[in-house]
Amino acid sequence: MTLVIAVDGPAGSGKSSAAKGAARALGLRYLDTGSMYRAMTWWMLHTDVPIDDPEAVAAAAVTPVIEVGTDPDAPTVCVDGADVSAPIRTREVSNAVSVVSSVPAVRRRLVELQRDIIGAGGIVVEGRDIGSVVAPDADLKVFLTASDEVRARRRAKDLRSDPAATVDVTLAEQARRDRLDSTRKDSPLAMAGDAVEVDSTALSLDEVVEMIVRLAKERQ
Ligand code: C5P
Repeated sequence: MTLVIAVDGPAGSGKSSAAKGAARALGLRYLDTGSMYRAMTWWMLHTDVPIDDPEAVAAAAVTPVIEVGTDPDAPTVCVDGADVSAPIRTREVSNAVSVVSSVPAVRRRLVELQRDIIGAGGIVVEGRDIGSVVAPDADLKVFLTASDEVRARRRAKDLRSDPAATVDVTLAEQARRDRLDSTRKDSPLAMAGDAVEVDSTALSLDEVVEMIVRLAKERQ
């Protein structure tokens, strides 16, 4: 199947669960582009690249080998052969990733990798700029939103092993990340003109997945 489905939206809008669920239901591959920006950021923190220096970040961005698996039941992300699925989800990485992902050289490198993986299609791709930049010809573009409060609650639940990640702290960190992601010069978080906006505030995960599956079948 050559279908390409783009799922974009801000942090905590439920993109990952919805995109994975839709990929499973439609028998498609799944690509989490956020995990690639997180892997790049993790590697930069790990190798002491000064992430507030855009030139140093741009120069370093060519080095790490980033590989992602596209099975919706077991998505993986490796840097230089090491599985970094767990460490890329820490708050340290979440709070650094927007600065790294705003550097054009980082985006160029990862968008090229993403387009290679998308290839001939048959994939659900989630991120911030998929419908607008990475796959502007996608068959279906969904822009998933939810209220700030609901998004922060979902994030705080994901981070429950970190005692400092209260709903209030998560709300503030999420607002900062949204602001940086939406105001950067190079491919900011934006809804593509032909995207369908889905507000998941009052919807269950199953309802969001069903909606994406129904829209996808209509486009097929
Ligand atoms: O989706 P997730 O929250 O894991 O994304 C982490 C970060 O990666 C985002 O806050 C954003 O800075 C960056 N990102 C991006 N473009 C994408 C996907 C993620 O800039 N397509």
